Amino acid sequence: MRSFSIFPVTINFDNYVREDAARAYYWPFSSRPNLSVLTNSFLNRIVWKTGATTDSTNLVIASSVEVTFANGTVGVVGATQEVVVSAGALKTPGILELSEIGNPTILSQNGIHALANLPTVGENLQDQITTTIGADGVETVADAVTNNISQYAQRVSAASGNTMKNMDLQTLFNVQYDLIFKQKIPRRLVFKTVATAFIAQAEYRSHKRLPVAEQETLPGYTAVPEGASDDVWKQWLVTHYRSNFHPIGTAAMMPRDIGGVVDVNHTVYGTAKVRLADASALLFQVCGHLVSTLYVEAERVADVIKSQSPLF
Ligand SMILES: Cc1cc2nc3c(=O)[nH]c(=O)nc-3n(C[C@H](O)[C@H](O)[C@H](O)COP(=O)(O)OP(=O)(O)OC[C@H]3O[C@@H](n4cnc5c(N)ncnc54)[C@H](O)[C@@H]3O)c2cc1C
Repeated sequence: MRSFSIFPVTINFDNYVREDAARAYYWPFSSRPNLSVLTNSFLNRIVWKTGATTDSTNLVIASSVEVTFANGTVGVVGATQEVVVSAGALKTPGILELSEIGNPTILSQNGIHALANLPTVGENLQDQITTTIGADGVETVADAVTNNISQYAQRVSAASGNTMKNMDLQTLFNVQYDLIFKQKIPRRLVFKTVATAFIAQAEYRSHKRLPVAEQETLPGYTAVPEGASDDVWKQWLVTHYRSNFHPIGTAAMMPRDIGGVVDVNHTVYGTAKVRLADASALLFQVCGHLVSTLYVEAERVADVIKSQSPLF
């Protein structure tokens, strides 16, 4: 994170509560006759219109969803307007794949025919890590990052089996680099490297700029001695890694030709009447916690639906 962190929160200071989805979006509207919530029921897959594609658009059109209900029976719920999937960054891609949307190579290995070819469904997973390291020398960190962007892109591309292309990743990383280091938007630093850790410690040990914190506690000289090698740093980072439980990006919004899964209106490419509204659609990590951003995303999806639907 550069400088200090500013991000929206969902605290209602008047009522002295932290808002949540049920309190803000369900309870006030639960008596509406056109709203039904099925608890303990699971979406298995999206069901497509027979014939699947229209001649003019070549899109597969959602007609209903297959659901396992709370009593264990399986049935179909019709979708006269749209299907909006919000199962989270870890489950939404699986639902798309079970609905025949995804990477044909992966789908065919599981006996599923790809109705829409979207190779990056389930790729691009990004999380924030909770291994805290600070650095005073932002420009030095910036240099270390920019010098390594092509290497980062190469590694991430390889990790996705080259589904995400090296050059596209470099473009995306450069966008983040510009946001963080040039536009100085407070954002979480996504490039966590041995270099940044090393620089942070070197800065601290040489200048002791924080008189209130006289001793380094993490990682500490015992775990990472002064002048430790990159391998020692790497070992410390790997063993101290903890997820911040903020997964995103597994069905990301970006142009289809560079690996996008949804368009700017949150519609899944190659489909009609299917949108995603959850963390899977976020392309980059945000500075801070995700929930407030996701409520904004959901409200935006609602606005888009209202602007496009004949019902409103
Ligand atoms: C321990 C923990 C602490 C966190 N603390 C904070 C915090 O303090 N502040 C903050 O902003 N964020 C916090 N987060 C992150 C935040 O909770 C997530 O980023 C956010 O909830 C993601 O929203 P989502 O809508 O993408 O997915 P989710 O909130 O995960 O919603 C997906 C929903 O879909 C349901 N689902 C999944 N599969 C199916 C299926 N097949 N059929 C039907 N339903 C299905 C799931 O049960 C779930 O209810 C925390 C996360 C964790 C795990």
